[in-house]
Amino acid sequence: MVKSVLVQDYFDSYCYFFIDEATKHGFLIDPGAEPEKLLEIIRQEGWVIEKILLTHGHIDHIGAVSVIRAELNLPVYAHPETLSFIMDEEVNLSDVYGEPPDIGEVLPLSDGGVFQLEADPSFRLKTIFTPGHTVDSVVFYAEREQVAFVGDSIYKGCLGDYLYPGGNYELLLRTVKRKILALPEETVLYSGHSEPTTVGDEKPLYA
Ligand SMILES: [Zn+2]
Repeated sequence: MVKSVLVQDYFDSYCYFFIDEATKHGFLIDPGAEPEKLLEIIRQEGWVIEKILLTHGHIDHIGAVSVIRAELNLPVYAHPETLSFIMDEEVNLSDVYGEPPDIGEVLPLSDGGVFQLEADPSFRLKTIFTPGHTVDSVVFYAEREQVAFVGDSIYKGCLGDYLYPGGNYELLLRTVKRKILALPEETVLYSGHSEPTTVGDEKPLYA
């Protein structure tokens, strides 16, 4: 199951729990702000979060990482470029929004790599590199559950943002068409800043 939580700091951002209901284990994707609220949900639900996964290094997707990892001692995975991306003042938007949070060690994920839940390896997410919103953007796709966590690459009703440093309109459009809208039509897309949508609903907008 997917639980979306709206967290607020500089922006309203959605972060996501992707949880295997049978084992109550799962992944936390893009904890962008309000770590105490997210920790309280984990405690109340009795979930065991195995990993934190990041769709990219923008501050509104990583703001709660350090507090949550300190509390739960979790590994954090992101694109190999994410750390250098975070450290680049101009690119991480900290010149506008303040110092980037220290998220500590980030383990590199690979294009096509699969995250399996330790509690049930059939519960899995595949990583798809999707540059365009940023150089370090990725999507996490669960084929069996027909869901994809798309970060800021595509929103309900429109293309994602491409005007921040490192963004590229042509590349984003190509990525969205070839990698995200190529997923099965039933796939539900969960983004950082919109209500969920589906591949089938978005596809006509890009024809
Ligand atoms: Zn972003």
